[in-house]
Amino acid sequence: MSGPRAPGFAFKVHATDGHARTGVLTTPHGDVPTPTFMPVGTQGSVKTLTPAEVAATGARIVLGNTYHLWLRPGAELVAELGGLHAFTRWPHAMLTDSGGFQAFSLAERRTLSDDGFVFRSHLDGSRRALTPEEAMRVQGLLGADIAMQLDVCPPGGSSRQEVEKAVRQTTRWAHRCLQSRREDQAVFGIVQGGTFADLRLAHADELGALPFDGLALGGFSVGEPIETMHEVLSQVAHKLDAERPRYLMGVGTPSDLVRAIGAGIDMFDCVLPTRNARNGQALLRTGRIVIKQARYRDDPRPLDPECDCPCCSEGYSRAYLRHLYLAGEILVLRLITAHNLHLYGKLVAEARSAISEGRYAEFAKRWLERAEPD
Ligand SMILES: [Zn+2]
Repeated sequence: MSGPRAPGFAFKVHATDGHARTGVLTTPHGDVPTPTFMPVGTQGSVKTLTPAEVAATGARIVLGNTYHLWLRPGAELVAELGGLHAFTRWPHAMLTDSGGFQAFSLAERRTLSDDGFVFRSHLDGSRRALTPEEAMRVQGLLGADIAMQLDVCPPGGSSRQEVEKAVRQTTRWAHRCLQSRREDQAVFGIVQGGTFADLRLAHADELGALPFDGLALGGFSVGEPIETMHEVLSQVAHKLDAERPRYLMGVGTPSDLVRAIGAGIDMFDCVLPTRNARNGQALLRTGRIVIKQARYRDDPRPLDPECDCPCCSEGYSRAYLRHLYLAGEILVLRLITAHNLHLYGKLVAEARSAISEGRYAEFAKRWLERAEPD
């Protein structure tokens, strides 16, 4: 089994350095240089930014949340208006999740059976059933370049037995998702297995034998110690089929990305840079700035003098940003969001260069030394 199979897709690794690799994921909406970070556009928008502003951070692929778009405005409406690309005006590549994670974590009165999730919408209480076939149908209507299989993500701290059960269910659903996929959409399988490296490796082999266009690692960053996640990643990531993109779901901090790229991961998504921005937290190479703190009251410096984002390069001071934040002004949320996503965009761009030039270990060491512990 090798490489993506959906029409218009290809994945080429151009250079490797240790387990780290850099390449290009080709999609019907353009090339995505990897490693790549996908900003999260929960409701069809990366909160506070226009598509052009998101692209200016270096992002060439974003993630949309199927659960939210399915409930509102509805996948049929999005399809009627030309699909998620036309609807949102994002011109580059796009991936949607399966909706399973939100159905599990946000919905009310949810139950899990062999057939899928049954739950009540958190918006209007309506009864919904998310089966593997429905997850593929809804993602097909949304029409992103990449769809994700429906999986079972066991909560952090689950027993080995519970994790084994989730793995088996995820495999059964993998077959059903592939049978009901839209032929012109890429589909990624999701490897589960919690913090049990042997279960992860066995599941990676099992899903790797199926005609998925890429393989994801799900069920990380669900409450396990971060060191445990990195330990398991170091054993598992480079064992995922080298011919297909490897996607680590829902992770993480800049330091997590640096370490996971070193373990062999190509794709990431996380709400951290956008969500933290809206809480007034700016991420720096050397730590974080909580903008409401009194110490920035008269600080004339930009967030990060080394940063070339619109917020820092146009000279907005920490004192001004703090003032905007305390006054409840929307502009500060836009500026810090742009800054945080620029940091992620810059990080993956620098990682790609470092891998191409065979100096990734040095790059990672320097980054991790400068970063404050999270
Ligand atoms: Zn900046």
